[in-house]
Amino acid sequence: MKPRVLIAGGGIAGLALALTCHQIGLPFKVFESVGKIRPLGVGINLQPSAVRELFDLGLEEALDQIGVRTQDYGMYTRFGLPIWTEPRGLWAGYHWPQFSVHRGLLHSLLLQTLIERAGPECIECGWRATGFSNESEAAVLHLRDPLGQERSEQGSLLIGADGIHSAIRKQMVPTEGEPRWNGAMLWRGTSSAKPFKTGASMVMVGHSGLRFVSYPISRPDPQTGLATINWIANLQFDPKGAFNKEDWSREARLEDFLPQFESMRFDWLDVPALVRSADRVYEYPMVDRDPLDRWTHGRVSLMGDAAHAAYPVGSNGAGSAIIDARKLGRACLDHGLGPAALQAYEDEMLPLTSKVILTNRVAGPDQILDVVEERCGGRFAQIEEVISRQELAAHAERYKAIAGYAVAATNDAPPTIPQGARLS
Ligand SMILES: Cc1cc2nc3c(=O)[nH]c(=O)nc-3n(C[C@H](O)[C@H](O)[C@H](O)COP(=O)(O)OP(=O)(O)OC[C@H]3O[C@@H](n4cnc5c(N)ncnc54)[C@H](O)[C@@H]3O)c2cc1C
Repeated sequence: MKPRVLIAGGGIAGLALALTCHQIGLPFKVFESVGKIRPLGVGINLQPSAVRELFDLGLEEALDQIGVRTQDYGMYTRFGLPIWTEPRGLWAGYHWPQFSVHRGLLHSLLLQTLIERAGPECIECGWRATGFSNESEAAVLHLRDPLGQERSEQGSLLIGADGIHSAIRKQMVPTEGEPRWNGAMLWRGTSSAKPFKTGASMVMVGHSGLRFVSYPISRPDPQTGLATINWIANLQFDPKGAFNKEDWSREARLEDFLPQFESMRFDWLDVPALVRSADRVYEYPMVDRDPLDRWTHGRVSLMGDAAHAAYPVGSNGAGSAIIDARKLGRACLDHGLGPAALQAYEDEMLPLTSKVILTNRVAGPDQILDVVEERCGGRFAQIEEVISRQELAAHAERYKAIAGYAVAATNDAPPTIPQGARLS
């Protein structure tokens, strides 16, 4: 068997790993279940720590063409009163920007770049991973196509990058069951509208029972001044009730949620108008999975959502998948193509990502919205009467530190993959 890495899943995590393998001269092959990769999803955010990794993959110019360098992030009560605003990315002193970008465009960029660099044969679509086995010198990936045809592939390592419903994880933890729902539903969409605040601002309005998040994911059209604005409307229900199973592409109806947001009309953002101008609306339940004790079984490990699906409240799901990819690449450089590399990667990333899962359940960056709502019902003359600047600043810094993107830690870290490093 020739040495190579098998990657199950060609999402953000799998493609970032494939590009990293190509960069360091490590043979690999991606197996993706869908027959054709299409640019799906809506907006996501990439923190500077992940953007740095994409820049190191040579994607700076391309990212600027598809996304927006996020300038600031603000929290507002349901009446539109400002609670806290902080600079982001370059404006906050990071050496790299934060990007707001359409997930589908980012996914397409990674795919196109991979094919240009490594050739179309490096990825096979239409093959679903069904499980794995470990042999003494090889990992074996079992695959099935839509006609039921089965085959197996051997590699030095196998990485399950197959998302929140990972088949590789299911074999590792057969009793785990479905993802956990916390009772919140998210309605997501993009609309063409004039950007608000700085033009590259991310805003979070309301509280966890009634929350609206929005940010532009394109630069404004010079002719019309309109940009693509991403938005997420969030309502809380009884977690014991029934809900539609998570599916990133499930379409939804405005009447399911818009009435509750009708009063969110501010001079800087008209929420109902923005929502009504969306082409399509998708719904997604707020689900995550419990942290695992281990990801690595012999020559097989997990990454991205397959390893650590967290509530999408901290703007770091896609970013942490990219960082996994880079840490895996680095571990292979340091330890070679064997179980020791997987263990080193897991030792570094599992504790960090487990903490994020648990923090996002109770104290994500938006927790302050609930604190303010509880203390004053969302109305105040001066925010300082409700909460001190120190408390606000401490909360914001605490989350960044837990999620691994504090300014100094990001700027001071050496490159994950040293420039020019190749597997010898
Ligand atoms: C269609 C889609 C739309 C999304 N939209 C959003 C969004 O709007 N906002 C947001 O915050 N996040 C969205 N996400 C999730 C987001 O991309 C991830 O949370 C994050 O980027 C981590 O990426 P990942 O590669 O681990 O997982 P994913 O991006 O989910 O990628 C997993 C990949 O594995 C493939 N796959 C699944 N099962 C198998 C299998 N058995 N064998 C082989 N391949 C398999 C999937 O088709 C997918 O390409 C979306 C994911 C998908 C798949």
